[in-house]
Amino acid sequence: MPGARPERGNAQDTARECVLCGCCLEDCPLFAATNREELSPRAKALLSGPSKFTAATLDGDAVAELAGLCLACGKCEKLCPQGVSVPRLVARLRAEHPDFRQWLWKQWITRLQPCWSLAAKGAALVPQTLAPAGFGLALKGLRGLRPGKGLRPWLTITKFPVEAYQQHYGGRPAALFDGCVGSGPRKAWGHTARFLLRGLGAEHVEADFSCCGSTLGVAGLPEDQDRARRTNIEAWRKAGRPLLVTYCATCRKGLADYAAPGAGADIFADHDEEALWAASVTPLSSLLSGATAKAGRGAPAVVGYHRPCHADPQDADFKLLASLLGARLRTPAKGVCCGFGGIMQLGAPELSAQVGAACWEALDGALGYTAAPEVVSAYVLTGCSGCVLQLAATAPQNAGVGHWLEIMRTD
Ligand code: SF4
Ligand code: SF4
Repeated sequence: MPGARPERGNAQDTARECVLCGCCLEDCPLFAATNREELSPRAKALLSGPSKFTAATLDGDAVAELAGLCLACGKCEKLCPQGVSVPRLVARLRAEHPDFRQWLWKQWITRLQPCWSLAAKGAALVPQTLAPAGFGLALKGLRGLRPGKGLRPWLTITKFPVEAYQQHYGGRPAALFDGCVGSGPRKAWGHTARFLLRGLGAEHVEADFSCCGSTLGVAGLPEDQDRARRTNIEAWRKAGRPLLVTYCATCRKGLADYAAPGAGADIFADHDEEALWAASVTPLSSLLSGATAKAGRGAPAVVGYHRPCHADPQDADFKLLASLLGARLRTPAKGVCCGFGGIMQLGAPELSAQVGAACWEALDGALGYTAAPEVVSAYVLTGCSGCVLQLAATAPQNAGVGHWLEIMRTD
């Protein structure tokens, strides 16, 4: 198997392209929550390599420390006029300075996945006061993910957009990509997703997918990411190159990135296969566009929506929920990062928690549960497994947090 190829130049080349304009500062959740310039994307780009602005470089330990302080939300790269990708730069720096956290993350994602459900149950038994230093937040998130702990379903789809689906995709099989959480502690998401596909009249095929690999890449484990990508492409080929249906925003982005410009490694047979892959990655919510639904007993008066940083450009999850829930649905005017950050949970959980607190503040501003607790509760839906984990870990007491699939009735 060919090894992973660098995606674009090296860390220093990427840093050289930064012109310190500061356009990226506006949306960086770490900078917004802390007001610390050294945590900003500009600082990461500047300090990680020589540029025309500085000849000095940090020593290895300092670079490694800096590299850990990024949520990989990608908000900065969307704003950068120079095309600098700080998450990619950080991933490369992490790869160049491996440490214990990476090893631990790799084991957790690649080897311990079958134990996640058990770990989620076990996390509920660990008293918060006895949680090992730095792991409190992750344990709290895991507790929120334990099997059977989801929201109570209250929304019934009354009409599926069968005709539209058949017009666009009829005759093409569809495979669900469950991702690490959907195939582990939250298998119920996958059951509901399959129910919805059946409602559309889709010809569903199962495929033996692994982790999408994005969290491994972000953690500075490019060879493991490459392995995950190849496994998934092979599984997709074996299943007959079906439509690739996702219900986790980060999985969707992770899969779409296989065919993104600059992805580098030659993982596809040819350009046609790469183009077919790119066209096949589809959010489940977009397939349900045009559905109608009825809210039953137990429906909250106000439902919050958290927009994942990795949501698809059209934010199909929000569009679907807005059409099904109408005025009941509220969301902050601007998407606010939940602060999950994958491996950063292990390196700087206090920063992750700080960003999480800012996210809940924005949700409260849109929902108003602090101002009117007797009529509004902190009840938030999202469409990303990492966001569910983080929101569950940072939520106010008695809040309801879950994937939007959890509110869908399947009876
Ligand atoms: S927007 Fe791009 S070029 Fe400008 S400071 Fe940020 S990383 Fe550098
Ligand atoms: S990826 Fe997100 S957290 Fe990291 S520097 Fe960019 S905006 Fe900030």
